[in-house]
Amino acid sequence: MHLTPIPAFSDNYIWALHDGERALVVDPGESEGVVAWLRRQNLRLETILITHHHPDHTGGVAALREATGAQVTGPARERMPEPLRRVGGGDEVNAMGLRFEVIDVPGHTAGHIAYYAAHAEGAPLLFCGDTLFSGGCGRLFEGTPAQMLDSLSRLATLPDDTRVCCTHEYTLSNLRFARAVEPHNADLAAYQRSCEALRAQNFPTLPSSIGLEKRINPFLRATQAEVVRSAQAHAPGQPTDAVSVFATLREWKNVF
Ligand code: ZN
Ligand code: FE
Repeated sequence: MHLTPIPAFSDNYIWALHDGERALVVDPGESEGVVAWLRRQNLRLETILITHHHPDHTGGVAALREATGAQVTGPARERMPEPLRRVGGGDEVNAMGLRFEVIDVPGHTAGHIAYYAAHAEGAPLLFCGDTLFSGGCGRLFEGTPAQMLDSLSRLATLPDDTRVCCTHEYTLSNLRFARAVEPHNADLAAYQRSCEALRAQNFPTLPSSIGLEKRINPFLRATQAEVVRSAQAHAPGQPTDAVSVFATLREWKNVF
C-alpha cells in the first residue's frame, strides 16, 4: 500500500492511498490533480473520505464521483455534496482492505471528523483534516477552545508511531510560532531545521507522527511549564489551566 500527498491549491495536500490498482483519496478540494494522478498510475478511484465541509476539502468531490463512480463518506453533521455515507464518532469505514475508525474532532468546524486505521501496513494512519497540523492546529471557526483541546487530546492518545496526515503544508509557519512559545525546546529546534531543509527542496514535511507532535506542538503541550509561562507573558492575568492556556495560544497564533 502506498501513501502519497497530491498537492492542490497553494498549500493543500489531498492524501491518497493505493495498492497498484485501487485508490482512496481524502478531502479532494479539486479534481484535476487527482484525475491526472489516477491516469498516470493507471488506478481506479474507489473511495473518497471527507473530514469537514470547507470548499478546499470538498470542491472536487462531485467531479471525481462523476468521473470514477467512487463511494463517498463524510461527516454526519455537516453540509456535504450528496449522495454520500454519513458517519460519526465510533463508526467504522472499510476501504482498501483497511478498517478506519471515525473519531469526532469538533473545533475547526462543529462536525469535523478524523479517520484512523490502527492496522495499516507500516504504522497506523490518521487523516485528521484541519484539526491537527504539524506544529499547530486548525483555527476555531465553529468550535470553542475547550472542544478543540479535547479533540486534540483524543488524537494525542493514539500510538506514537501513528502517521499524521494533515491537509495543509503549514509546518514552517507553525514552527516559527512554536519557537516563540518554547524557545528552549531542543527537539523543536532540531525539527525546525529538518523541515526547513525539506521545504528548501520542495518536499512535504508530512506525514508527521503523534510521538513527534507531542514533543514539539505547543497546542498539545498546554500543561508544559515553558508553554504556560509564555502564555502568561503574552496575556498576563489569564488563568493557567490547560483550556485557558490553549485559548491564549490559539489567539496569539492568529495574530503572530
Ligand atoms: Zn478547513
Ligand atoms: Fe483546509
